[in-house]
Amino acid sequence: MEKKKVIIIGGGISGMTTGIYLQINGYDTEIVEKNAIYGGACMGWERKGCYIDGCIHWMTGVNPGSSYYDLWRDTHAITDDTEIYFQSDFAQFDFGNGKALTVWANVDKFREELLAFAPEDEKEIKGFCKLIKRFQRIEGPVNKPADMMGLGQLLKVGFTMAGDYYWVSKMSKVSCAEYAMRFKNKHLQSLFKGYMAPGYNLMSMLYMLAHVTAHNGGIPIGGSLPLVRRMAERYTSLGGKFRLSTPVKKVKIEGTKALGVELESGEFLPADWVVSSTPAEHCLKVLLGGQYAVKKIDDRLADMKVYPTYTYTTVAFKCSADVGHKPLSMHVHMEEAITFDREYKNVTFRNYSYDKTMKTPEGCCVIQAGILGGDEMYFWWKDKKNNGTYREEKEKIGAKLLAVAEAKYPELAGKLEVIDVITPCTYERYLNSRHGSFQGFVHTAQGKSLSEKGIIEGLDNFLLSGQCIFHSGGMPPAAITGRFAAQRICKADKKKFIYREK
Ligand SMILES: Cc1cc2nc3c(=O)[nH]c(=O)nc-3n(C[C@H](O)[C@H](O)[C@H](O)COP(=O)(O)OP(=O)(O)OC[C@H]3O[C@@H](n4cnc5c(N)ncnc54)[C@H](O)[C@@H]3O)c2cc1C
Repeated sequence: MEKKKVIIIGGGISGMTTGIYLQINGYDTEIVEKNAIYGGACMGWERKGCYIDGCIHWMTGVNPGSSYYDLWRDTHAITDDTEIYFQSDFAQFDFGNGKALTVWANVDKFREELLAFAPEDEKEIKGFCKLIKRFQRIEGPVNKPADMMGLGQLLKVGFTMAGDYYWVSKMSKVSCAEYAMRFKNKHLQSLFKGYMAPGYNLMSMLYMLAHVTAHNGGIPIGGSLPLVRRMAERYTSLGGKFRLSTPVKKVKIEGTKALGVELESGEFLPADWVVSSTPAEHCLKVLLGGQYAVKKIDDRLADMKVYPTYTYTTVAFKCSADVGHKPLSMHVHMEEAITFDREYKNVTFRNYSYDKTMKTPEGCCVIQAGILGGDEMYFWWKDKKNNGTYREEKEKIGAKLLAVAEAKYPELAGKLEVIDVITPCTYERYLNSRHGSFQGFVHTAQGKSLSEKGIIEGLDNFLLSGQCIFHSGGMPPAAITGRFAAQRICKADKKKFIYREK
């Protein structure tokens, strides 16, 4: 029997995951990707002989006991040969005036550090660390979408998750900024306010710390580009095909049926199924021409206050000093604020010297300085694009962060060179993402959790997937929604879904 043809728009983690599972399940798939390389937001590139890693700060599900782990193994994001780097000090905070604190990847050690730093906050510190431990065992549905589970499976999940669900729900309604005010110590207040993107709820912070402290959050050695290469090799070895440097213009629809895709070049690619793993806004407004409503996504697009996006301005430096003894992740309070749409006083330095496989000239490593913002940071940069001062502003921010780095680490003076500046406009251009976001919608305390099926009412043979249809975004939601899309197609075609070859 002839295999059914599936066109997948977008070759990021989500699109490749869908492709891998559909190939395993006997489909003929083709990934159509606008960029010259697959990987999407999970990317790395070279400047001045240095590899700049553009994604993985930490990856959830690297522990074989985790339900995400099978997903990473099925797709070869992790293979037998993948070495995982686990930080013992997940992050360090430098508040200035000699005040510093380490977020240890061990809850008991972290609690002791906090208690020594702010004994006046003993009760809150103990309560927070207890919550981290509670969240260590919480993982959402990964194997199958909840709406595809049988009653028995649903009852089992409900039964095992009942107590946890109470805490997930409670903590998702508290913002990090609000929680910060429970602490008397002003540095702890600033840590809780500034660690996550503006507006994030406490559940997201607990979730991150829980996975890291449970030895389930690490960084694959080599970084993002080798990871997506492994996935791409897995996909093509199963017979999947990439069509790179090929932007899709729109989904071709007749009546209620998706017939395939029309490329920017004018060529038409017919298909039995179309899956779009592109950012949701681009899919709904551009690829589907704004003709279809998806309430949960439309509500989010209409309310930037409750559902903001996460943006980043990053400066990459080539560093010709030995910084192997310095922490990987250092959150620094700047005495003098840097102004984009507003004043920013926190910058995070990431020191990539931990990974000797990342290409750099002899004796050098890469350091990145990143400032986290929201939609407004994007609007600020977009304005500079529109008024012709974008390049100039990029140079200015590069120089400013160079000065911050040299003031903080005088021993690096003259040893740092700006090699790249990445703004929200970079991500917008590269990914077609909303406001240059690289994650999904931020899960704020006022917002609701998101788990969208990707099925569009009135449009058959089409599915939406990708990080934007799952709360908070990130690599796991990208892969999960990718697997779910393959499962939904198999179900619609009455095929038993196979997770992996025998
Ligand atoms: C700086 C940074 C740090 C990050 N850190 C982490 C981290 O530590 N941990 C973590 O879990 N996640 C992290 N992420 C997020 C992670 O990279 C993303 O969640 C994930 O890669 C998203 O995958 P996706 O497939 O859903 O979407 P995308 O990667 O956005 O893929 C969509 C693809 O669609 C393509 N496309 C768009 N429009 C079209 C079109 N018209 N035609 C054809 N193709 C199109 C795009 O080019 C893109 O390749 C980070 C991201 C960045 C940028």
